[in-house]
Amino acid sequence: MKIKQAQNIVNQWITEYGVKYFDVKTNMIILTEEVGEMARVIAREYGEQSKKENEILNLEDEIADVLWVLIAIANQTGIDLTRAFEKNIKKKTIRDNSRHKNNLKLK
Ligand SMILES: [Mg+2]
Repeated sequence: MKIKQAQNIVNQWITEYGVKYFDVKTNMIILTEEVGEMARVIAREYGEQSKKENEILNLEDEIADVLWVLIAIANQTGIDLTRAFEKNIKKKTIRDNSRHKNNLKLK
């Protein structure tokens, strides 16, 4: 699936099943909530926190939740994520092309 397709799928789903987009501030709060759910899984599966009894942890699903809301925010603010991501990669490559290679902490 291409990024543009994902943006179209989220838009179609929200239009058909979600009635309309939540306002961008509400979606920002939901995004924060979803990042917190993802963090909880990381803390328990990769961090030092223990899993609660009968707790179901699904990192794949939590990451997809984060991506979903991120895409919704991009859609409602008119951002073409393919273009944004391509521009961002170029920016990072110009800015950081030797930064990490020269980081002694990574050796
Ligand atoms: Mg979630």
